[in-house]
Amino acid sequence: MVAVEPYYCHQCGTELIERRIHGRDRKSCPECGHRHFRNAVVSVDVIVRDGEEVVLLDPAAGGPWELPGGHPEFDEGPEVAAVRELREETGLEARAPDLDLLSVVHSVHGERHYHMVTYVLDRAETAGEPTPGEEATAVEWWSVDRALSSPSETREIDREALRSVFVRE
Ligand SMILES: [Zn+2]
Repeated sequence: MVAVEPYYCHQCGTELIERRIHGRDRKSCPECGHRHFRNAVVSVDVIVRDGEEVVLLDPAAGGPWELPGGHPEFDEGPEVAAVRELREETGLEARAPDLDLLSVVHSVHGERHYHMVTYVLDRAETAGEPTPGEEATAVEWWSVDRALSSPSETREIDREALRSVFVRE
């Protein structure tokens, strides 16, 4: 499985050709026969809420502020990954059973497709103070209203998740 369209076989390095497989044109290896199925990648994020405030981070890689999150390792469940990413990016400790599942949506960023799994967590269920990890230059509490009214500073997918938690007229 791959997230983006591959050009070369990751099993043997041969240049790939397209073949019709299970109703779609897919990259296939003329040498070893490996079929490269392209898939959406699982992504997780966490809304940590305290009343009408949520934790957002300023990513070190640039771009708008975002909810803490990332991708599960191959041997991690999504809740375990969410707790790990939260700790790595914000310093907040949490327990996987305390996460409430909010939504699972398909989202597209450029060529990459994700299955975004979003959880909600109350601040009372976390320990520690928000502190930026290696992947963030800042971690702050934002009011939901500020996040929703700052389209150039926050991501649409995050605002959508926030709108579904914090009902606005
Ligand atoms: Zn091959």
